[in-house]
Amino acid sequence: MRRSRPSATAASRSPWPSWSLRRMRTHSPLWPIAPRPFDDEAFGSWFGRVAAKYGISVLELAQSSGVGVDVGEDASTWLGAAVPGASAVRRLAHLCRMPAAELRRLGPKPSVAPAKRFHYCYRCLYLNPADVTAPYWKAGWLSESGGRCSLHASSGSWVTANDLKSHPNMRRLLRFISRERYRAE
Ligand SMILES: [Zn+2]
Repeated sequence: MRRSRPSATAASRSPWPSWSLRRMRTHSPLWPIAPRPFDDEAFGSWFGRVAAKYGISVLELAQSSGVGVDVGEDASTWLGAAVPGASAVRRLAHLCRMPAAELRRLGPKPSVAPAKRFHYCYRCLYLNPADVTAPYWKAGWLSESGGRCSLHASSGSWVTANDLKSHPNMRRLLRFISRERYRAE
């Protein structure tokens, strides 16, 4: 089981999330807290969960990390961001104090063309058996046929590039999806 693991130092240093973007840029070579990726998680989903921890956008996180993470124009495809190159992965892993292999194994690979719609299964999104507090986007949903769940007949939802642009981290995106779902019922 993988869970996000807040570090003891971060917990004692300051109440979350007062660690500001400015401090990330100027003072600390490492990020005080970063959730661990799940095995079948999309890289963009993990990156979006890190951004959510800091209350910033994926674009701001990409800029502050100093690595080339392609989140698309105005962060319109951040969920489908490919796993970046080896040196970028090493830097991200260093910032998060985790083995680079945990990031390297995520999908999608750069060779996969970015989708126009970002499919998901609502029930799988919210029923994360490893950690119910951490919904995440599966890498397998990012293909054109993604999101057709073998477990849940009611799957087949998606968000668009505009939705991603307006909700540029995982917390904001999940809130948006919940709201839309509530409206539709
Ligand atoms: Zn499902």
